[in-house]
Amino acid sequence: MAEFTMELNDEQKEVQDWLHGFAADVIRPAAAEWDEREETPWPVIQEAAKVGIYSLDFYAQQYFDPTGLGIPMAMEELFWGDAGIALSIVGTGLAAVGVLANGTEEQIGTWIPQMYGDAGDVKVAAFCSSEPDAGSDVASMRTRAVYDEAKDEWVLNGTKTWATNGGIANVHVVVAVVDAELGSKGHASFIIPPHTPGLSQGQKFKKHGIRASHTAEVVLEDVRVPGSCLLGGKEKLDERLARARERAKAGGERVKNAAMATFEASRPAVGAMAVGTARAAYEVALDYAKTREQFGRPIIDNQGVAFQLADMRTSIDAARLLVWRASWMAVNGKPFTAAEGSMSKLFASETAKKVTAEAIQILGGNGYTREYPVERMHRDAAIYTIFEGTSEIQRLVIARTLAGMPIR
Ligand SMILES: Cc1cc2nc3c(=O)[nH]c(=O)nc-3n(C[C@H](O)[C@H](O)[C@H](O)COP(=O)(O)OP(=O)(O)OC[C@H]3O[C@@H](n4cnc5c(N)ncnc54)[C@H](O)[C@@H]3O)c2cc1C
Repeated sequence: MAEFTMELNDEQKEVQDWLHGFAADVIRPAAAEWDEREETPWPVIQEAAKVGIYSLDFYAQQYFDPTGLGIPMAMEELFWGDAGIALSIVGTGLAAVGVLANGTEEQIGTWIPQMYGDAGDVKVAAFCSSEPDAGSDVASMRTRAVYDEAKDEWVLNGTKTWATNGGIANVHVVVAVVDAELGSKGHASFIIPPHTPGLSQGQKFKKHGIRASHTAEVVLEDVRVPGSCLLGGKEKLDERLARARERAKAGGERVKNAAMATFEASRPAVGAMAVGTARAAYEVALDYAKTREQFGRPIIDNQGVAFQLADMRTSIDAARLLVWRASWMAVNGKPFTAAEGSMSKLFASETAKKVTAEAIQILGGNGYTREYPVERMHRDAAIYTIFEGTSEIQRLVIARTLAGMPIR
C-alpha cells in the first residue's frame, strides 16, 4: 500500500507545474472565446495532443498512480484553466476508462487508440448511459441490445441523451439493457465503431455552462455491431448475468454494493474538477479584493470581504482533502463504509457553486459581466452538482450507506 502523505511527490509536482503552465498559457486565454462559440475547441485539443496531455498514456499514468493523487491533481489543474475546454480534453478519458476497466486486452488495444486519434488527426470518444427517462434512475434504461446468434452481432435500439461528445465521437461506448429482469445488473456496455450505420446525433444542447463541451442526444436505430464489440466478451457477460440471477434470488445486496463501489471510486475525479473551478474563481476574487479600492482603501480591508475570502479558501481546502482521501481509498482498495467518494463529490461540487457565486459578489458589477471570468466559472460550476449523480443522489447514497440500507 502506498504510504499516505499530504504532499505531492517531486514527480507529481513536476507534472502539476507542467499542467498548470498549459492551463494558464493555452486553456485560460481561449476560455471566453469557446464559451461564446459553444463549440468543441479542436485547436486546443490538438495543442494538448501535441504536448502529450491529450493521450491515453498520460491519462493511464495518472489513473494508475499508486498514491491515487494523479487524477485529482490533473483534473484540478486543467479545470482551473477552464471547465468547458478541460471537459473537452478529459471527456475521451472518461469513455476510455470504461474500456480499460471492462474490456479485453484486444478491445483495449483496438479501440482506445481510435478514441484519441493522433496529434495530426485528433478524435474524441463518448460514454452514453443517460436516457430521457433514465437519469438518476439508471435502472429505468430502455435502450436494448439483442444478440443475433446467427450473425454473431448485437443489435442496439434506443435514444441516449446528455452524451458528452455524443455524435461527434469517433468511438461511442453505449450502455444497453441485455436482461430487463435484472435492472441495472442486466446492463452491458458496447463499443460502436466509427461510421457505424444507424447511429446518429440528435439534438445538440445549448447549455448554461461548460459551453465549450459538446453535449448531445445519440440515436441508435438498428445499430449492428460485431459480437467482439461487447465489452469484456460474451462468455464473461453470461457468467455475470448468471451470478446476478443467483444473487437476485438470494436477496441481491452484494451485487448492489459492488456496483456502488465503482461510483465511489470515480466520483472524486468530478470533485477535483469542482475544486479546480472553485480555486480559479477564488484566486480572481482575492486579486480583485486586494486591488479594488473603495472608501480610500482596498476592499479586502473590510472584514466582511476578508472573512468571505477566508471561508472560501477554507471550503476549497476542505473539499480538496475529501477528494484526496477518497482517491487514496479507491487506489488502496479501502472499503467506502461511509460513501466517502460521494461525500467528496457532494462537498466539492456544492463548494464550487457557492464560491463562484461569492466571487461574483466580491467583483461587484464587474463580476456580473463577461469582461471578467467569474460569471463563466459560476455558470460552469453548476454542472458539478448535476452530472455523475446529482447532489441529492450523493446525499441519498451517503445516507443509505450510513443506515446500512441497500442502494438501488
Ligand atoms: C452537461 C452534461 C453532460 C453530461 N454528460 C454525460 C455523459 O457524458 N454521459 C452520460 O451518460 N450522461 C451524461 N450526463 C447526464 C447526467 O449524468 C444526468 O443529467 C444526471 O445523472 C441527472 O439525471 P437527469 O438529468 O435525468 O435528472 P433527474 O434524474 O430527472 O433528476 C431531476 C431532479 O430530481 C432529483 N432526484 C431524482 N431522484 C431523486 C431521489 N431519489 N431523491 C431526491 N432527489 C431526486 C435530482 O437530484 C434532480 O435534482 C450529462 C449531463 C449534463 C447536463
